[in-house]
Amino acid sequence: VLVGVLGAGQLGRMLALAGYPLGLRFRFLDPTPGSPASALAEQIVADYDDAEALARLSECDVVTFEFENVPVDAVEVLATRTRVHPSPTALAVAQDRLHEKTAFRELRIPTATFAAAHDEAELRAAVAQIGLPAVVKTRRFGYDGKGQLVVRSEADVTAAWRSLGERPLLVEALVPFTRELSLLAVRARSGEARFYPLVENSHADGVLRESRVPARGISARLQEEAESHAHRLLEQLDYVGVLALELFDVEGVLHANEIAPRVHNSGHWTIEGAATSQFENHLRAVSGLPLGETALTGPTAMLNLLGRIPSPGRLLALPGAHLHDYGKAPRAGRKVGHLTLRADHEAALDERLGAARALLETD
Ligand code: AMP
Repeated sequence: VLVGVLGAGQLGRMLALAGYPLGLRFRFLDPTPGSPASALAEQIVADYDDAEALARLSECDVVTFEFENVPVDAVEVLATRTRVHPSPTALAVAQDRLHEKTAFRELRIPTATFAAAHDEAELRAAVAQIGLPAVVKTRRFGYDGKGQLVVRSEADVTAAWRSLGERPLLVEALVPFTRELSLLAVRARSGEARFYPLVENSHADGVLRESRVPARGISARLQEEAESHAHRLLEQLDYVGVLALELFDVEGVLHANEIAPRVHNSGHWTIEGAATSQFENHLRAVSGLPLGETALTGPTAMLNLLGRIPSPGRLLALPGAHLHDYGKAPRAGRKVGHLTLRADHEAALDERLGAARALLETD
């Protein structure tokens, strides 16, 4: 089976690593030459809407994506020629924060109050309606905290319009969350759905730094609530593949923030920490195979390596550590790899996390 993938970054690379044991082959499309997945499989270097590149991807048995900011039109063209999972419709919803939040509201999934704005007057009205402080976001192409600002006073509105305006915007109430969680969900072509245990995530400057499972103090009720939200989204979108649902924990009530229609950074721990990784389950789903078990194999944490990879010898000397080097050139703030830590019990995981953080700070 030949799997076509739009995007050839680290997520694509980890998809290929998970797919080879299943006998899958890969063909990637990414405009950046020498992308991380190109070390493992063929990479077509062209724009996502290049007609010849799309023709070559159409030869694949199934096409999926590891990057969501690809033109929906191009994915629609592919869908007329071969199988595409998740569907172009699911992609379109996830690309636009207004569609995403509207889907949450229609499915009765709690989310921040929100309003759309197309010009400065509408932005002012939306902020007045939602109240201060508010978060102003571009509807499209935001990632890792880019394309958003917190507005704390009337005077901030003009500044927000100047830096983010000229594009359709979304205004949201600032959610007073106690922590950020995510749920990785996967749905097969048959409609069968499975869910991983809730992940606790910490961010700095809008970028994910650490994930940890199990998230602390999660009741069976909270896990069920998260699964029920994700399940309604999967069904509504007739979704096939892995979907990540990012959540705010507001004193035990979950508010949905956004969905990612792909494997997700907060699911990297599943490679060592779950019975089946998110990458393998995504590939099983899109290629029509039965899903694998999603159970946790023990307490696990993931630390993103930003900028450059510290000494592998020192990282791997940490007990329970596994290193993933994406083969990227070093650059400030860039996600170049991650470290997974495993332990038999949570106290041991905390100890290992402390040691790993210290090493990342000093190395
Ligand atoms: P996003 O691009 O929507 O994932 O937002 C990036 C980060 O900004 C989130 O992980 C939160 O830490 C923060 N954030 C986004 N939206 C809100 C909100 N409505 N209220 C509070 N924090 C937010």
